[in-house]
Amino acid sequence: MAKLAINGGTPVIGKPLTRYNTIGAEEKKAVADVMDSGVLSDYIGAWHEKFMGGAQVLALESQTAQMVGAKHALAVNSATSGLYAAMGAFGVGPGDEVIVPPYTMIASVTSAIVWGAVPVFADLDPRTFCISPDSIRKKITPRTKAIVAVDMFGHPADFAEIMKIAGEHGLKVLEDAAQSPGVRQNGRMTGSLAHAAVYSLNYHKHVHCGEGGIVFTDDEDIARKVSLIRNHAEAVVRGMQVTDLVNMVGQNYRLSELHAAIAIEQYKKLDGLLRRRIELADRLSARLKNIPGLTPPYVQPGSEHAYYVYPITYDAEKMGVSRDLFVKAVCAEGFPVAGGYVKPLYLEPMFQQRIAIGRDGFPFKGSDVSYEKGICPVAEHMDATGLIITGQLHGMLTDEEIEGIACIFEKVAEHIGELSQAA
Ligand SMILES: *Cc1c(COP(=O)(O)O)cnc(C)c1O
Repeated sequence: MAKLAINGGTPVIGKPLTRYNTIGAEEKKAVADVMDSGVLSDYIGAWHEKFMGGAQVLALESQTAQMVGAKHALAVNSATSGLYAAMGAFGVGPGDEVIVPPYTMIASVTSAIVWGAVPVFADLDPRTFCISPDSIRKKITPRTKAIVAVDMFGHPADFAEIMKIAGEHGLKVLEDAAQSPGVRQNGRMTGSLAHAAVYSLNYHKHVHCGEGGIVFTDDEDIARKVSLIRNHAEAVVRGMQVTDLVNMVGQNYRLSELHAAIAIEQYKKLDGLLRRRIELADRLSARLKNIPGLTPPYVQPGSEHAYYVYPITYDAEKMGVSRDLFVKAVCAEGFPVAGGYVKPLYLEPMFQQRIAIGRDGFPFKGSDVSYEKGICPVAEHMDATGLIITGQLHGMLTDEEIEGIACIFEKVAEHIGELSQAA
């Protein structure tokens, strides 16, 4: 008789999991108040008292700067915009190289390309899935200008080491904290761990306002340049009497008052949502660590994990079936999981064909940086067989649901023989 749901048995969880919805009465009221004011955005793209935005934007910035422990917060209309603005503010340009991880959302990497720099991929730490300091060291050349370190799946990258390397070589470090808002490493919150950092407010993140982002920095000069790039820099430099014109080609990265008002309410809820998510993740980890072949997320001493995604390391040999079959069996029991995260980014057509800006191979032409298969073996292993991710482990699940999720992994592992026969 079939026991596993994939073979016709009864699934452990028979109905959809509680949906993660952080939007409530507070956000509705905040939006209504902005609507009543009639001022839905309050920027002027010239050197003017409204150059830095309206009341909601400024309130969001002071609230989040204080929360994170950064001197400056600059709201933008996406984390992607924030990464682009910060990289521009670092002064990165053609001829420069930027060391990046291959296993991340692609904007972490395109932030170098849009300013004409060449991304150089460094491999992951196999425990945290963040960029590995040892791999960074091997990729430094005289052209290296900056490092992008992503707090992958919610675990802060190893900033103690990365900032040390940066100091030795005079590099700037950008922390992509889109997946790790509100957690700490050695007493400091993500967003304050590098020369500049970025939070995301898109719909899929811990808290959101539809679309949005925030850039954090302690550096006066970086903050001013981010504010210029955010709001038509080239048209403002004269009024502001800016003399350094490097990367003062501006964009419109402005966040609206409506979005800022929602974000203000969302950040008030972040810590509560995060603490519950961490508690549930800890409960699941305590169960998974007893299952041979599965390794629950590693948390580096001194760091917290935000569990944007709950990553499980998979050992196909120990489990006796392929990862992809195991994933199918878990999904059939009522918990959606996926094998791997993204394809290592250097395998995307942009890098394989070396075509990004224009037809002529800019910025890759003349660079000998390799994007061949094999350059980041850890990332490739995770993609192929080594990683299972669960995007639905959040702070609104019930105790019963997390119990059910733990039972699913135990059940599939106990009945693995059924799977290997079917395979
Ligand atoms: C979501 C995400 C981004 C981009 O965020 P947007 O606000 O959608 O631009 C960047 N980096 C990482 C690691 C992300 O997860």
